[in-house]
Parts: sequence; structure tokens; C-alpha cells
Amino acid sequence: MADDQLGEEYTCRVCGFRYDTPTWDGGSGSHDICLCCGTQFGYQDTVLDGVWSVRAKWAAEGHQWSSPEFRPPDWEPGTQLAQVPDRWADASVLAFKLSAPPLPAMRTSADPEAQRAEVLGRFLRDGRLTHFPATGREWTIVLEHIAAGFEPGVKYRRLEIDKLLKAWHGKPADLLSRLTDQGFVANDDQYYWRAER
Ligand SMILES: [Zn+2]
Repeated sequence: MADDQLGEEYTCRVCGFRYDTPTWDGGSGSHDICLCCGTQFGYQDTVLDGVWSVRAKWAAEGHQWSSPEFRPPDWEPGTQLAQVPDRWADASVLAFKLSAPPLPAMRTSADPEAQRAEVLGRFLRDGRLTHFPATGREWTIVLEHIAAGFEPGVKYRRLEIDKLLKAWHGKPADLLSRLTDQGFVANDDQYYWRAER
């Protein structure tokens, strides 16, 4: 997915974080808040001056993530800022572009197994989820992997499934609602179980 195709942009103009849904489409911002720099697409990032000043403020405050649960553990701002499209770059971004090695592009490998392994490698460490995925596709791969750990046919009580999910991440309720929303786990009033898919 290249930026500018059909007027769609997938990269935050301010911080360079990449999404798999457009941040801008046909001249309108999505109004979503950037998980990384906190820019609302379509408000603070409409003109070059705005982009530069929001970026400068974000840098002055130490490149904090607006949603820290999405921050990769070994994240480093320069590598990401180097992905800012040229027309939104300022001197600091240009310096990063010159020095930073390119990140892998939007992971468009044709081999689904390699894709799966690549995504799991980025989010799992020692059998734990290090941070939350930012895109739906990454979530699906991660949730499928977690759900595969539940015994087929076994019914778990809420406390039991929370305990299992806590072994993956400190926010088991978030994981459980995603697992049920996406149909990996089914439930009734009392029990949760791995859904047939
Ligand atoms: Zn951003």
C-alpha cells in the first residue's frame, strides 16, 4: 500500500507510524487519534506548519506514546520518523532519513506462514505479549495464536480464562473481549470455550 495511491495515506504525517487503514483519504483525515504521537488526523496535521509544530511539541515532551500499550519494547523514534513522507518532513526528519536504515515496508510478504511468524516475532517474547498490535491484521494473527493454546472442547470459567490470559498480558479483560468479538472464543452465561472456526 503506497501512500498517495487513490489519495490514501497510511502513515502518520507527524510521527511516521504506519497503519493498515488510511489516516487520510481523498483529502479528509480519518479523525482517529494516532496511537503513537496522539495527533488527530484531519485537525492538527492539515498543513505543513501544523505538522511541524505538533512534531516539535511531541519531541520536546520526549516522544511519549498516546497509547503506551501499543509501544514496541525496543521502539526508537528516529527509525519511525524516517518513515514520514517527504512532503511532511522537517530538518529533524530529514536527518533521520539520511541516517536510519529503512524499516521493513508494510509487511506484504506473499507467504502467509512467514507473515504470521514475522508478526508473532514482533509481539511475543518468552511466551508473553509485549505490547498490543496496532492493526486488525496483526491482532487476528496474535489472537489466533493465543486461542490455539486453549484445549478444544474444554469449558473455562471466567476466573480460569482470566488466569490463562494473564499469563499472556496484564490486561486479560481486553484480550478476552477481543477474543470473543473476533469469534476465537465463544461464551454463555457461565463458560468460555475455544470456538470452532
Ligand atoms: Zn503519529
